[in-house]
Amino acid sequence: MMEKRVAIIGGGAAGCFCAIEIKRLHPTWMVTVYEAATKLLAKVAVTGGGRCNLTNSFRTCLDDRGRLINLQSIYPRGDKLMRKVLSRFSHVDTYEWFENEGVKLVTQDDECVFPVSQDAMEIVRTLTRNMYNLGVKVSLKSRVTSIVPNNKDDGYVIEPFGEYYNSVVVTTGGSPKTSGLAFLDALNLDIVSPVPSLFTFNIDGSQNALLMGTVVENVTVSLAGTKHKAHGPLLWTHWGVSGPAILKLSSYAARDLAATDYKGTLIVNWYGDAKEQVVREKLEKMMREQSQKKVSNVYPTRLTQKHWNVLLDCCSIPQTQRWGALNATHVNRLVSVLTSQQLVITGRNKWKEEFVTCGGVSLTNINPKTLACRQYPGVFFAGEVLDIDAVTGGYNLQAAWSTARMCAENI
Ligand SMILES: Cc1cc2nc3c(=O)[nH]c(=O)nc-3n(C[C@H](O)[C@H](O)[C@H](O)COP(=O)(O)OP(=O)(O)OC[C@H]3O[C@@H](n4cnc5c(N)ncnc54)[C@H](O)[C@@H]3O)c2cc1C
Repeated sequence: MMEKRVAIIGGGAAGCFCAIEIKRLHPTWMVTVYEAATKLLAKVAVTGGGRCNLTNSFRTCLDDRGRLINLQSIYPRGDKLMRKVLSRFSHVDTYEWFENEGVKLVTQDDECVFPVSQDAMEIVRTLTRNMYNLGVKVSLKSRVTSIVPNNKDDGYVIEPFGEYYNSVVVTTGGSPKTSGLAFLDALNLDIVSPVPSLFTFNIDGSQNALLMGTVVENVTVSLAGTKHKAHGPLLWTHWGVSGPAILKLSSYAARDLAATDYKGTLIVNWYGDAKEQVVREKLEKMMREQSQKKVSNVYPTRLTQKHWNVLLDCCSIPQTQRWGALNATHVNRLVSVLTSQQLVITGRNKWKEEFVTCGGVSLTNINPKTLACRQYPGVFFAGEVLDIDAVTGGYNLQAAWSTARMCAENI
């Protein structure tokens, strides 16, 4: 059998998984992983806060017959390609793959899947053990600077090492700057300029210090002047707002926020999807039934008293006011602040590295049936280097596993 030489550029989730799957399909091929860092899978080791949220049940986007629908809300970039890719290697396949390797998994109430051990290192060890057992060659501290096509699809030379391969899989992950993709210049690809996704917002105002640590379940947040909207829990932090609803909004609005240098107006409906009229009726009921009580002592159950008092301050309503003594202006202000409070976004949080990159190698370069480059059919792409990214919940790692598996199948 002909022995083929395959180079994998990047030893992260996609690169390591791809190497394993190629060796399982073609044990005689020579597969080499080039990794710039001193160890493999460094990012996987810190995923999910060190617990590794490796996939999701995808329950929120399954129809009655268990088919995937509405992937756009999960993959704001790359949903169509992900539908194809997931039909070849899905979350169910991921679950089985790791359980077959002896990793016990658990699906949480929020549909996120973690190892029962709650230890990302179990995933790292499982992948590296497989690579070792299958004879994948690993070259650490080996940053690839160029992929040079020989003649058209007659192989590629990996620089600066001057090594020749029949096929190459690019799995270098997200790159916060376009310059991080300069090693692809010789392939002349379309690149979608990278911007960060999945970040939290810095919010103007003194309420941050007061409300730090407060969680409100089921809010709706939107970005003024855009159609971007997200639902879920919101967490107040000492710099502003975070939590699933905000991370989702940062993903949907990643490009718009980059364009305004992370300035804008966040609109929050503290009552989720409730319309103004519904909230007005709730307040009027309180005015009737709790008329003698102070407004600061009786408040919507979805808010904490501290949070409610901050909202009363925003409406210039004294905390000692009785419910029965609220006038029409007070009620209008409360309805407005509860259903569409405007908060000023002054920036994005930069303390942590971006969770994922929006942008990368444009999908227009890629054959969606194989994930090979249209112009150079021996070069494949998998993982975050592609212009595919997801909201939080294990979907980004699922994209890495699925695209890697698809490359391995088609190489
Ligand atoms: C803190 C954090 C937590 C996260 N938690 C989760 C989670 O719980 N669930 C989830 O689904 N997603 C999570 N993500 C996102 C997820 O980790 C990534 O989407 C995923 O790791 C992407 O896999 P990848 O293989 O494409 O890239 P990476 O894992 O980033 O791997 C790319 C590798 O390529 C190497 N490389 C880059 N350039 C070169 C070069 N020129 N030559 C050689 N090597 C190179 C890099 O050193 C790196 O090791 C998290 C991300 C972060 C930052």
